[in-house]
Amino acid sequence: MKNDYDIAVIGAGPIGAASALGLARTGYRVALVDAHPLKDPVSTDEPLDLRVFAVSRASRRLFQQLDAWPAMAAVRVSPYRHMTVWDAHGRVEFDAADVAEAELGHIVENRVIQAALHQQLRESSIDCFLPDRLERLSLEPSGALLGLARAGRLRARLVVAADGGASPTREMAGIDVRPVDHEQVALVAHIRSEKPHGETARQRFLETGPLALLPLADGRCSIVWSTTPAEAERLRGLSPEQFGRELTLASDGVLGSLMPDTEVVGFPLCSRQAERYIDERLVLVGDAAHTVHPLAGLGMNLGLKDVAELHRVLARARDRGHDSGERTVLRRYERARRPDNQFMLHTLDGINRLFRSDAPGLDLLRGWGMRLFDHSGPIKREVIRRAMG
Ligand SMILES: Cc1cc2nc3c(=O)[nH]c(=O)nc-3n(C[C@H](O)[C@H](O)[C@H](O)COP(=O)(O)OP(=O)(O)OC[C@H]3O[C@@H](n4cnc5c(N)ncnc54)[C@H](O)[C@@H]3O)c2cc1C
Repeated sequence: MKNDYDIAVIGAGPIGAASALGLARTGYRVALVDAHPLKDPVSTDEPLDLRVFAVSRASRRLFQQLDAWPAMAAVRVSPYRHMTVWDAHGRVEFDAADVAEAELGHIVENRVIQAALHQQLRESSIDCFLPDRLERLSLEPSGALLGLARAGRLRARLVVAADGGASPTREMAGIDVRPVDHEQVALVAHIRSEKPHGETARQRFLETGPLALLPLADGRCSIVWSTTPAEAERLRGLSPEQFGRELTLASDGVLGSLMPDTEVVGFPLCSRQAERYIDERLVLVGDAAHTVHPLAGLGMNLGLKDVAELHRVLARARDRGHDSGERTVLRRYERARRPDNQFMLHTLDGINRLFRSDAPGLDLLRGWGMRLFDHSGPIKREVIRRAMG
């Protein structure tokens, strides 16, 4: 029947688009809704998007399975083969060669990721309601009723909420979140550096928060500089030359003198975890379920792990003739993903606090710990493998 679907996915960001593609390939009849239109393909001469993500190997594998990776690689992706993390007292180096791999991951623009996924959406059987907006939601044991601003009513056996950190769908379902305000703002910009980045991702921990320098395909770096809100406001008020000088100092001069090459945009940082990932005929994925501190570049990667698990659970349900929206089916997904995300959220919050703490002696202890870890051989290799997914 028209407007009657197995699955309605809300949100066509990286997580919603990847969810919809995999579920349609499993044989489900899928509708996808987003407030914005489908993204056009990106051409190689377009300027780089300010939002870039460190994409793990596990995420790249999922993009490959969805046939979206070749389009990303054809525009531009930037491999990073080394990583350096340091503070005033210690340093840890990671190298892809330590685990016999070509690279640790890739830096890819948000727009490039979305355009490649949206190209696959155009070629799929998915009914795309873009642009449209979910306005009403009724979740009943027999199915979900959705009210869209333009297309009117849809019915679905299951709703997948992939509508980001503020998730209106999560709110309509009355699922609580416990936000942790980091009292930090991440400043994001592209910068030019005196020395080449050498395909190395760098992160320096400062008392106010971490500063990341991520290598871009055009030789520049993307910075994610997390600092206190007052300091962020001060830094954004500086001239490019003054900002460049402060950034050079904050980066320890590791790439020589630095200069911003774009506007500097601020993102207030907050971690959140939904109290549950499922409800009657509803499942949360990606930022709608959890947001984490960006210090390890994990947010989207964790969301893509949700997507891979949801694909697995719902493919199995279909093979066995089970209803995709049944709680027993959805619980398998929640049991697999919520503890993993909870663990990462606490770990990242803990690392952020540990490096900001000025408790006496802690700085020296941190430095000792970093040096010990750097020489830990098999433990370090295992951490690299896990981080690569
Ligand atoms: C500074 C910073 C740096 C980061 N760096 C990294 C990194 O290096 N690596 C990484 O993995 N992650 C990183 N992240 C995290 C990453 O940005 C997010 O995890 C990711 O964007 C979440 O994707 P999503 O698809 O869940 O949500 P979103 O990208 O927010 O997409 C949600 C979609 O839902 C749509 N929507 C919302 N409401 C409605 C509605 N009512 N009806 C219809 N549609 C609706 C929106 O239009 C949007 O398209 C970073 C985050 C920050 C803040």
